[in-house]
Amino acid sequence: MIARVTLEIALRKEFDYAVPPELVRSVDVGTRVQVPFGGRKVLGVVTALAEESAHAHLKPIVKIVGTPSLVTPKVLALARWIADYYCCAPEIALKSVLPEAVRAEEAGWRERLHVRIAPRTGDLPKLTKRQLEVWNIIEEWRELPLQKLITLSGATPETIRRLEDKDLILLAAEVSERDPYEHEHILPTTNLVLNAAQKAALEKITAAMERSEQHSEDGGRKMEDGKVHPSSILHPPSSTFLLHGVTGSGKTEVYLQALAHALERGKGGIVLVPEISLTPQTVERFKARFSSGPLQTLVAVLHSHLSAGERHDEWHKIRQGRARIVIGARSAIFAPVDPLGLIIVDEEHEHTYKQEEAPRYHARDVAVVRGQMEGAVVVLGSATPSLESYHNCKRGKYTLIELPERADNAKMPHVRVVDMRQAFRQGGGTPIFSPQLKEAIHQRLDRGEQTILFLNRRGYSSALECPQCGFVAQCPDCSVSLTYHRREQKLACHICGHTEPVPGICPNEKCRNPKIRYAGLGTEKVEDTLTKLFPRARIRRMDSDVMKRKEDYRRVLGDFRVGKIDILVGTQMIAKGLHFPNVTLVGIIYADMALHQPDFRAGERTFQLLTQVSGRAGRGDIEGEVFVQAFTPFHPAIQFARRHDFAGFYAQEMEFREQLKYPPVSRVALLTLKGRNEEKVKFSADHLRKELDRMAGGADTEKRGSGETENHAQELAFAPSGDIARSPAHPLADSPRSKPLRDLIISGPAPAPLLRAETFYRYQIMLRTRQMSELSRRLAKLTGTLSLPDDLTLTVDIDPVNLS
Ligand code: ADP
Ligand code: ZN
Repeated sequence: MIARVTLEIALRKEFDYAVPPELVRSVDVGTRVQVPFGGRKVLGVVTALAEESAHAHLKPIVKIVGTPSLVTPKVLALARWIADYYCCAPEIALKSVLPEAVRAEEAGWRERLHVRIAPRTGDLPKLTKRQLEVWNIIEEWRELPLQKLITLSGATPETIRRLEDKDLILLAAEVSERDPYEHEHILPTTNLVLNAAQKAALEKITAAMERSEQHSEDGGRKMEDGKVHPSSILHPPSSTFLLHGVTGSGKTEVYLQALAHALERGKGGIVLVPEISLTPQTVERFKARFSSGPLQTLVAVLHSHLSAGERHDEWHKIRQGRARIVIGARSAIFAPVDPLGLIIVDEEHEHTYKQEEAPRYHARDVAVVRGQMEGAVVVLGSATPSLESYHNCKRGKYTLIELPERADNAKMPHVRVVDMRQAFRQGGGTPIFSPQLKEAIHQRLDRGEQTILFLNRRGYSSALECPQCGFVAQCPDCSVSLTYHRREQKLACHICGHTEPVPGICPNEKCRNPKIRYAGLGTEKVEDTLTKLFPRARIRRMDSDVMKRKEDYRRVLGDFRVGKIDILVGTQMIAKGLHFPNVTLVGIIYADMALHQPDFRAGERTFQLLTQVSGRAGRGDIEGEVFVQAFTPFHPAIQFARRHDFAGFYAQEMEFREQLKYPPVSRVALLTLKGRNEEKVKFSADHLRKELDRMAGGADTEKRGSGETENHAQELAFAPSGDIARSPAHPLADSPRSKPLRDLIISGPAPAPLLRAETFYRYQIMLRTRQMSELSRRLAKLTGTLSLPDDLTLTVDIDPVNLS
């Protein structure tokens, strides 16, 4: 038997190895192995098994590493798709599907001393009062970790040893699973009675789950050894839903009952939530539902704040099938749940689902692909769907389900847009708070209700400016101005973290003006101004400057919940998922901020942010009120958000995307060249543009750069389509010819909106096409052969969400 192996050292290739007879039974697709390679021993993963090889004298596999088959064939297929579509080396895609803690095998199961009652006949021997107290606790628990006993009883090791001497207890090392939520007290919940819209939504989802089961019972072709034939894994019917429900419409209850349905049918589920909303409250809602009752299962949690050990344990609980529900951030999409019935992607429009390093995958899109591969139903939920997903509903690829009203009969908040240009005209300078917002805050304080104020910029002032000579304090390594942080008395770069002391006078030697001033504002300034305006109010700020540890976050939210805080000021951090019935006022200090980004999604982002933040108001019995302060109050993103009109926003935004052929009308690949010497970067970018024109061959390209377009379509049509495709194990290997990319648009090179970051200059080329798979294949080939100077790097980002 021959094993085809992808090596973990970055080589875009696979190699054949002989499987020694003693390993034949344990080597399978997905097995991690150690193999000889050029005099070294390296790690790799078996990606295919074969009877024969094109090569003679194969070296044998040295040994199997770790538990056999950590990567299931299904997850392996997903990794392959990622490598192909996101244009990265297979070994990089493979690395990302296993958590580092599992892959490296550094963290194993943890062993702890446990105390257990020993079998005993006869009466209790005579004990001292202290011993008896400790004994009573042990007797009640029957078995418990030693550490816990010490915490509960305050017993000394001496007392415990005495009990052991008297043969009352046994002490032994046991595997003790780490539970990141062991300190939470979770009360079980049961199904709520659904309202009509929720009920209709649930029925559609469960019907799709039954349909897909039907298919795998009679459709999925079984091979002789009982495994499902690979081709039928790839083509079961797909059912992806977009659950568009306004904030507070009860999407979570629909998720919970759909998951229960999966469990009833013997299947598991994955729930993705953005990292920022992975709060204890969110996790608790899922644990509370499945921690007891007939469907009882462990709920595993995967996210970046877990320790390596916790991650190891959570992952293995899933792999062993004990945890059948997984809730986690982006990478939880690779959780080895099997069989998988349902994938939920909550807040599907969130950009944190996109990984900003290779492999640059988008977890929402990977979820849809995984659903298709494994016959699982996929539910994408949001109050503000991405244009991509909504467009897919219009095209019939996804099914749209709507929850148009709030579940608990609360009304949608009343949104008022305040024209800040007027406020500006009335008084000298621009106030942070318009008179209207100030008045509204007063009212809430009088009535004992709570207020949330939102501004998506931390720090005190966004720039240090000299009014005399125009000097602006810049980061020495990035092309951005430094933000003033008053409490810490420093200037800080929000890109690279560089800090420097605050100058007392203008640093320009020819100027030396002592009246240097601060322009723009951040949350710190909002907080300070509030304190002056409302000296008796209890005000807290929540942004990454003050929330350094996760306990800070919990504590402030806890205080806010019980009414110890009147006004909460914050960034992004407070925009999502929080649910406080006593919040009746939300103020958005500067709504235009996101509008002025050099990004075609600026309008969409503004609409999403305003809708999400507004959604924090009026979740209780009293109707909520939202004040949106803006300098461009009539901008469509602001106006549609004011009216809670997603469909209206979609229609008008699509006109603009259509005109400029931006997603979702097309797909984008963004190529970024980085280097410390700007001239060199520019030169190579121009060279790259020429190569791209050649690759495109006759495509309709915008000649914004210096590139020429030549017709190489003929030549390309017969060329092998990319390195990955040439490797023999790959199913695309014998695809006869590649399709021409007629709709390809190439723009650039142009300096990136953020020209310089962390000392590197960056130039970009943007490609737009509908045939992204084909483009990815060609880009893989081109970047594999492209020769760039050593000090330059090129990144390829497919479907980028960050254009800066
Ligand atoms: P979303 O996730 O759509 O923003 P939530 O799931 O947080 O909304 O629900 C908002 C509130 O409505 C929660 O307090 C939830 O308990 C409540 N809720 C949801 N469904 C129902 C229902 N069928 N009956 C009563 N209350 C419900
Ligand atoms: Zn910087």
